[in-house]
Amino acid sequence: MFMNYHIPTDEQIKSALKKVLKKYRTVNSQYKLKELVTKELKTKKENFGINPSRLRKIAINSDFVKLEIHSREGDPKKLMNRCPVCNWNLKRVKNLTIWGGEVTIEYKCNKCGYWTGKKKRIPKRYVFHLKKKK
Ligand SMILES: [Zn+2]
Repeated sequence: MFMNYHIPTDEQIKSALKKVLKKYRTVNSQYKLKELVTKELKTKKENFGINPSRLRKIAINSDFVKLEIHSREGDPKKLMNRCPVCNWNLKRVKNLTIWGGEVTIEYKCNKCGYWTGKKKRIPKRYVFHLKKKK
């Protein structure tokens, strides 16, 4: 059977994402979130196809989502310019130790909150939380 998939708009994804997070509060993987949002968008006539990294970017840009990043250690020699989570430019942060000499370099993303030190943190799993209203 051949299925026809529609590509939802950002607004459609955002509103489905909001419904899903209001229902579940926490979704502990990007794959699961994609499944739930796809189900939420589905109608009797239409099926939707969503790219998981597009969904993650929309989630990062939504004010009701709190993203938690689980990571593994990567190659310390690897240079990173772009955020592996949201593709934003990483900001280089230098930390001088109180004893002078030693400098540790960290990279930080101002968009999604990702950071990494010398031992690179490679995102492995994402957990999506409904952000509490202040
Ligand atoms: Zn980022």
